[in-house]
Amino acid sequence: MKRESIMIPKPRSAFLSVQCEKCGEKAVVFSHTTTNINCKSCGELLAEKSGSLASITGKVLSALDQ
Ligand SMILES: [Zn+2]
Repeated sequence: MKRESIMIPKPRSAFLSVQCEKCGEKAVVFSHTTTNINCKSCGELLAEKSGSLASITGKVLSALDQ
């Protein structure tokens, strides 16, 4: 008797390169951040924490692989 291994889909975390839509400053944001991320330059909210995947409020440029 064989047991098939079942892949449990894990939420894939990643680092995202996010650009502030207000001033254009770029920041690296963890996709599952547990804190709100604000722009270093103007203070605009870039990512809002949530239960799992953060909601990115800035412009996502690319995902950086770990
Ligand atoms: Zn900004």
